[in-house]
Amino acid sequence: MNLKDNIVIAISKGRILEEGMELLKTMGIETIVNMSDSRKLIYDTNNSNLKLVIVRAADVPTYVGNGAADIGIVGKDTLVEYGENNIYIPLDLNISKCRMTLAGLPGCKPGPRIKVATKYVKCATDYFMKKKKQVDIIKLYGSMELAPILGLADYIVDLVDSGITLKANGLEEIDSIFDVSAQLITNKASMKTKTESIEKIINSFEEII
Ligand code: ATP
Ligand code: MG
Repeated sequence: MNLKDNIVIAISKGRILEEGMELLKTMGIETIVNMSDSRKLIYDTNNSNLKLVIVRAADVPTYVGNGAADIGIVGKDTLVEYGENNIYIPLDLNISKCRMTLAGLPGCKPGPRIKVATKYVKCATDYFMKKKKQVDIIKLYGSMELAPILGLADYIVDLVDSGITLKANGLEEIDSIFDVSAQLITNKASMKTKTESIEKIINSFEEII
C-alpha cells in the first residue's frame, strides 16, 4: 500500500489490540520493532507514512475526533458510551465481538430503588430510561461481577462474550442490550484532506474482512 500522506492509526489496548494487529498483518502492515518486547506507545511500520499508536479504549475516539490520529480501531461499546464527535464510522471490522448485557444473581428481587453497577454509565442509563425505570447507577472501573455478590448493586451492565466469568461468579444474563464489535473510525477532516490515503486503508481493511 503506497500512501501519499502521513497517517496515524490509534488502536484500543486490551482485547482489540491483538485481533486488530492480526488484521493489519493480513493487510501487509507490520511494526518495525516487535510490540511484545517494547514499551513504546508509538510504532513505525513497514510503510514509512503509517504509524500506529496504542491507547486506552476510551481515548481512541478522543485522539481520532481531535485529529491527533486519522484512523482508529475501537469497540462499539466505547463509541456508544463516550460519543463520537467529528468522526465517521466507515466499517464494522467484525472482530472482538461480544455484547453489552444486563446481569444479576438468579432470582434477584431489587427494592424500590434498583441499583446498577457498571463502567458503562451512559449505556446503563439509556437502557433503563427506555424501560421507564428509575435506577441508581454506581460507577465501577472493573470486576463488575463482584457488585451483586457483595450487595453493592442489584444488577450489572457489562460486556459478555462466552459468559464464563458471569457463570463462575454465579450470575446470569437477564437481557442482551446491544451487540459489540470493533469498528474502524476516521477523523472527518482527515477524510477531506487525506482522502486518497485514507480510502486506500479503508479499502484494504474491506478486502480482508
Ligand atoms: P480498560 O482498562 O479501559 O478497561 P482494557 O485494557 O481492560 O481496558 P478490554 O477490557 O480488553 O480493555 O476492552 C477493550 C475492548 O475490547 C472493549 O472496549 C470491547 O470493545 C472489547 N472487549 C471487551 N471485553 C470483551 C470480550 N469479553 N470479548 C470480546 N471483546 C471484548
Ligand atoms: Mg477491561
